[in-house]
Amino acid sequence: MEAKVLISEEAEEPPSNAAGTLSRPASPTPNSLVFRQTHFPNASDSDWNDWHWQLRNRITSFSGLARMIQLSDSERNAFQFRGATLPMAVTPYYASLIDPEDPDQPIRRAMVPVASELLVSPGEAQDPLGEDGHSPVKGLVHRYPDRVLFLVTDYCSSYCRYCTRSRMVGKRKSGGKTQWQQAINYIASHPEVRDVLISGGDPLTLSDRQLDWLLGRLRAIPHVEMIRIGTKAPMVLPQRITDELLAVLKKYHPLWMSIHCMHPDELTEQSRQACIRLADAGIPLGSQTVLLAGINDSVETMKRLMHELLKIRVKPYYLYQCDPIVGSSHFRTPVSRGLEIYQGLRGHTSGYGVPTYVIDAPGGGGKIPLIPETVVGRDGTDLLIRNYEGNVYRYPDKPSDKGLAGAEVFPCE
Ligand code: SF4
Repeated sequence: MEAKVLISEEAEEPPSNAAGTLSRPASPTPNSLVFRQTHFPNASDSDWNDWHWQLRNRITSFSGLARMIQLSDSERNAFQFRGATLPMAVTPYYASLIDPEDPDQPIRRAMVPVASELLVSPGEAQDPLGEDGHSPVKGLVHRYPDRVLFLVTDYCSSYCRYCTRSRMVGKRKSGGKTQWQQAINYIASHPEVRDVLISGGDPLTLSDRQLDWLLGRLRAIPHVEMIRIGTKAPMVLPQRITDELLAVLKKYHPLWMSIHCMHPDELTEQSRQACIRLADAGIPLGSQTVLLAGINDSVETMKRLMHELLKIRVKPYYLYQCDPIVGSSHFRTPVSRGLEIYQGLRGHTSGYGVPTYVIDAPGGGGKIPLIPETVVGRDGTDLLIRNYEGNVYRYPDKPSDKGLAGAEVFPCE
């Protein structure tokens, strides 16, 4: 194991200054009101509900954080190292959800650096998914036959310590119209690309005007059938879901959205309202959740998260095994834990509430689903299958020349 240098106190500039506030702000929680009165006493309601105010007032430094929470030794030690790959930034809204006294609180663990980030463990890599090797033009990853990943910015309002793209986010080195145009030209010249996933960084930190430009260019390409946006904004910056933004997004259907969420604590009245407003705008919503040790690696927490998402019309989509980025060992669970959680969901709750559990294969192999064994063998032509309670049932399968590869044959008890 070796140390790496991670933390920067350099504040970034928000990417745009266009106006836009949440026109129907949801009621804040009592805790967030106390937080606001304590740490931002001069902020008006309209400040707090303005996503640009939230970006301008992000907490990005050790001193800023130390004023708000009682830092543990591990958190303090993380800040001893300067020069950073992954910066620290938290919106005031999301910071108001952090427990100032409990270093193990899920949102705090996801946002506040700890000394374990400085350790490099075997198998970890800066770019474990090999995205850079599948990038025909800067900011575009073409790994699957009919779809591309379009990285339109490296800026996020808040940085997750386990971010797959920690090698690039927060560097302010990518994006901009020239780079976007090159990616759009590539997509336009590849008729096999029917699906474009816009990600980053967080695309919803771009201005409405920038998003309108990007979506308009992509929608004008005849073979682009579907556009998706990957974002964490509804969880960390729900103020971003303004009427003006919704008016832009609605112009480009079919538009889908994948929302990154990791714990039920994120589902406040504000974040729920943000998701509901997106759903009301006709955008199908799916969730993406990273399995994180000590944060959401229990059946109870994961089931609660999935149920809460369904209530706000977000379909649980992917549960990711945490990618082996550098300094991630304290976040990663054994795969067996993920399978246990999957087993604790499948059959025990609505099928709509069960995400696909995947490993994004290191080296660029793409997402590989992990499913506990349900086919236990054959008896003659009968297929022997196990249900969610562990009971084995017999299905009268149709005879096949090929048989069932890999299945063992044993009699049903
Ligand atoms: S919001 Fe997404 S891109 Fe940004 S730091 Fe978190 S995981 Fe990474």
